[in-house]
Amino acid sequence: MIAVLKIFVVLLLIILLILFVYRPKRKQLVMLPENYKDLLQDYVRFYAQLDEEGKARFEKRFEKFLGAVKITGANADVEDLDRVLIGAAAIIPVFYIRDWEYVHLREILVYPGNFNQDFEQHGRDRLVTGMVGTGAMQNVMILSKWELRQGFINSQNNHNTAVHEFVHLIDKMDGVFDGVPEILLERKLVPEWKRLLELEIDRIRRGESDIDPYGATNAVECFAVMAEYFFEQRENFSQHHPELAGMMEQVFIRK
Ligand SMILES: [Zn+2]
Repeated sequence: MIAVLKIFVVLLLIILLILFVYRPKRKQLVMLPENYKDLLQDYVRFYAQLDEEGKARFEKRFEKFLGAVKITGANADVEDLDRVLIGAAAIIPVFYIRDWEYVHLREILVYPGNFNQDFEQHGRDRLVTGMVGTGAMQNVMILSKWELRQGFINSQNNHNTAVHEFVHLIDKMDGVFDGVPEILLERKLVPEWKRLLELEIDRIRRGESDIDPYGATNAVECFAVMAEYFFEQRENFSQHHPELAGMMEQVFIRK
């Protein structure tokens, strides 16, 4: 009887060992299209302008990001290009920030067009083009497929809705959604950052700034709108806003 028990225990141990060795690896959430490097090269100027080493670094971060987040179409057909553009928009603002991860982000919902704040697509107020969730939707980002593509296809302007939403996540990372990325900004620079943002909001309100008027909503939107401009047309931004550009470099470009 004891011999039978021994065999049973040994068998059990062997089964546990097998299960442990072959436990399923965390599967890649988003399947990367085979030609994703071509898509990045053709549609993402930020990537196309990098040297070979930079591109390789970008791809690594991009793959890791898409491996960790779920992308779901909400009445929208999410195509390879959309997945690639979402991955690119996530990496662009944090490309120079070592080891950055969007730790709270779990899922991105893609709507075909604009949506209202209640996430309904057929409401009267179809003005929202992208947003990061709050409350129960904390870990969710919502993007409009049309706006996502516009942000990359139209390179003549300084808009990129998806980059804008990822900058909101960066802003939120320190726990306070206030237009001050404390996690990336040296503490001693915070007062100056706030001062420059307020000055710019006043300028926008007076019609004296080339920054999108939506930036005058508040410091949160001003930061996100400025970051779109900074990443889309960095030279122009630096020319028109040298002080702000210096600050943005402190936050985003630390080599
Ligand atoms: Zn916003």
